[in-house]
Amino acid sequence: MLIDTYGRVATDLRVSLTDRCNLRCTYCMPEEGLQWLAKPDLLTDDEIVRLIRIAVTELGVTEVRFTGGEPLLRPGLVGIVERCAGLDPRPRMSLTTNGIGLERTAQALRDAGLDRVNVSLDTLRPEVFQAITRRKRHGDVLRGLDAAHTAGLTPVKVNAVLMPGLNDDEAPELLAWALENGYELRFIEQMPLDAQHGWKRDGMITAGDILTSLRTRFALTAEGEDERGSAPAERWLVDGGPARVGVIASVTRPFCRACDRTRLTADGQVRTCLFAREESDLRGALRSGAPDEEIARLWRLAMWGKKAGSGLDDPSFLQPDRPMSAIGG
Ligand code: SAM
Ligand code: SF4
Repeated sequence: MLIDTYGRVATDLRVSLTDRCNLRCTYCMPEEGLQWLAKPDLLTDDEIVRLIRIAVTELGVTEVRFTGGEPLLRPGLVGIVERCAGLDPRPRMSLTTNGIGLERTAQALRDAGLDRVNVSLDTLRPEVFQAITRRKRHGDVLRGLDAAHTAGLTPVKVNAVLMPGLNDDEAPELLAWALENGYELRFIEQMPLDAQHGWKRDGMITAGDILTSLRTRFALTAEGEDERGSAPAERWLVDGGPARVGVIASVTRPFCRACDRTRLTADGQVRTCLFAREESDLRGALRSGAPDEEIARLWRLAMWGKKAGSGLDDPSFLQPDRPMSAIGG
């Protein structure tokens, strides 16, 4: 098991497949992009599958989420999913994507064994989409969502970040649209993980703001703690249910006590938390011929050192050196 000194057990693995992206969301990347990882530094498909196999067969991981950067930009994605679907025990597999290109790959991903997708979409207005992502790709995302739904990558979840002055008035509109299309909407509080280090707590839209805005149009009933488990999203039944809406309040209502995550970056570093400032290298061990048991030991050791919390509430909080796109959200 991947257990830490606070007794938490990590069963949910986030795997970043690339640090590259075809959008430039203001809360994640600078306009000019970043210095991408060099190809030899990236884990190969074989290395990724091997690490996932070790996580699943030796370390108790039951959920694998592929992310990035934009994971659909990874050429070997479908093959990686297919090989992981053949593992015993078979992990549940999902993908977090900006949806661009999903129109073409949704069915192949489903056929390869992917269970679900989370598609990020912050706005229903094409011009606001362009202001947030700095690209004119709103239509591609909508078509990608539709394809995911048709391919049975369900429940399709939609992640939305609200930004002051851009889309902070859109919460009820987004929820009405998600309900109409059968998507499960989750709002994510903006976190200090932008490459420009421009995040300010004062300016951010909080879970409280989002709920107030949603309640102008919908009746929300909180789901109990039991249903939440280790899920970061707090969920509300909409107008009595069964439809739900989630809010991930990483800043104002952190869920570190129940965290069950372990993370792997595209260059083979284990991270215990999005906000961790330390990483543990597995790529070096892989490439120097270490056996599975040694890699599992290094992974366990890394997780044993996981801190109690994100440290966001601490006045000495320092943003991690890698931005969100290079960690894997
Ligand atoms: N490119 C894919 C996407 O956008 O879905 C996957 C990677 S992205 C880093 C994963 C998720 O993190 C997205 O839903 C995105 O909106 C969210 N995200 C990125 N930067 C964020 C930030 N500073 N605060 C909160 N969420 C953020
Ligand atoms: Fe790309 Fe996702 Fe970051 Fe947007 S949030 S820039 S889509 S990695």
